Amino acid sequence: MEPRNHLLIAGEWVGTEKALPVINPYDETVITEVPVATEPVIDAAIAAAESGATDMRRLPAHTRSAILTKAALLLEQKSDEFTESIIAEAGKPRKYAAAEVGRGVETLRFAAAEAMRIHGETVPMDASRGSEDRRGFFIRVPLGVIAAITPFNFPLNLVLHKVAPALAAGNSVVLKPATKTPLTALKLGELLLEAGLPSKSLNIVVGSGSTVGAALVRDSRIRMVTFTGSPPVGEVIKRDSGLKRVALELGSNSGAIIDETADLDKALARCLVGGFAFSGQVCIHTQRLYVHEAVAEQFSALFTDAAEELVCGNPALPETDIGPMIDRAALSRGLALVEEAHAAGAEVLCGGKTEGTVMFPTVLLGARPELPVVCDESFAPIVTIDTFRDFDEAIALFNEGSALGEYDYGLACGVFTRDLGRAFRAAEQLEVGNVLINDSATTRADHMPYGGVKDSGIGREGPRFAIEEMTDIRMVSFNLG
Ligand code: NAD
Repeated sequence: MEPRNHLLIAGEWVGTEKALPVINPYDETVITEVPVATEPVIDAAIAAAESGATDMRRLPAHTRSAILTKAALLLEQKSDEFTESIIAEAGKPRKYAAAEVGRGVETLRFAAAEAMRIHGETVPMDASRGSEDRRGFFIRVPLGVIAAITPFNFPLNLVLHKVAPALAAGNSVVLKPATKTPLTALKLGELLLEAGLPSKSLNIVVGSGSTVGAALVRDSRIRMVTFTGSPPVGEVIKRDSGLKRVALELGSNSGAIIDETADLDKALARCLVGGFAFSGQVCIHTQRLYVHEAVAEQFSALFTDAAEELVCGNPALPETDIGPMIDRAALSRGLALVEEAHAAGAEVLCGGKTEGTVMFPTVLLGARPELPVVCDESFAPIVTIDTFRDFDEAIALFNEGSALGEYDYGLACGVFTRDLGRAFRAAEQLEVGNVLINDSATTRADHMPYGGVKDSGIGREGPRFAIEEMTDIRMVSFNLG
């Protein structure tokens, strides 16, 4: 068996009695089996990471940076291999899988750069009466062992958004990738060891969230849990993690506003990608569009025509835009959302159909804001179009529509306008972590501060910002008096 089909514990590839099949979501064949971490293996992973944390703390910043730089180089060299792995286990169309690998290389480079910039500040102690004779400064120190729990939809880059900054800051990691997509994460472990990472500083355990994930969340040797995934699981992690630090990157029903001054070609191109990339299985999926009534008919027709032209089918083919849903349950859920909206009076402009595990791009007009396809996270290739008359009304519609479902989301909103005043009003009034002017919600550069407000999460990622979450401030004061 190849090393990546084992768990990574203290630099060794470990098997267990129990195995988990990894399924190709397109043809539904078993790609391979991966061992499931048992209690003793989880314990060994955390114990190794404790010792790995000591190794990492001792490494100078330039060495941590050099390891991450080497890893970026190796990933670039092996980009085809990683692309194939993402296509096979996630069913991500080739163009998007290759783009994810390219982003992974950048995430590693950004983390390598940040590793050399971690610093504190001097503190003017004499500003406080009675402290005239004190001199002070603070430094940033690593936390120790960080547990990283990741979702299926970006099996490489969202793992890197946790692992790379954690290592850059001098922490060790126990990683639990999504059970549907463990292979790319295990390959990454192999690559990081090849790049020279101390063997105990990254340990990878596979298994269900409710057993393996929960064991990590509860273990007192772990100092922080960094999680990306769904809001219900985020709630459980926050509840069960005791006094550990948590960073939660959760879901959303993100969207975009298109006003009557907008460049419609640009809005069309960006919202098409935002609405349908990876079949909408993206946390910043552009699932709700609010279009000014003066251009709504024209935009809806153009958008529907373009959606119908997207190539659906085998994700391995270079021309494919829309591949399979991650599993049959996700497919049924997507269809049910459309059927429910249709029954409630929404017009299905295109899609609403499936073939195998592929759901065709679907555009709905006139879905009421309280329908789950609008107010919950659809995580499917479905875009709803609503209209507005006044720009401030659109901001209100977006904000109100974020809170009508099970959760009160606030991750991202795109705004297409040529009116500078409106762009600034949107930036100030939209209740989200990311406002994207003349871009769809589905926009992320990997070094920007990224994260949600309200039920969309706690904390920010992007290596510089993740490092802030993954370090402690240690104040040092000298009494010279
Ligand atoms: P999920 O919440 O089902 O699973 C995510 C991870 O949590 C998996 O590794 C899973 O095994 C683990 N897990 C499940 N139950 C657990 C428990 N009780 N304790 C500990 N770990 C547990 O999410 P998913 O279906 O893999 O991914 C889709 C979700 O992720 C969507 O809601 C999406 O919006 C969100 N997401 C958010 C971002 C972001 O940056 N905000 C990015 C990508 C995905």
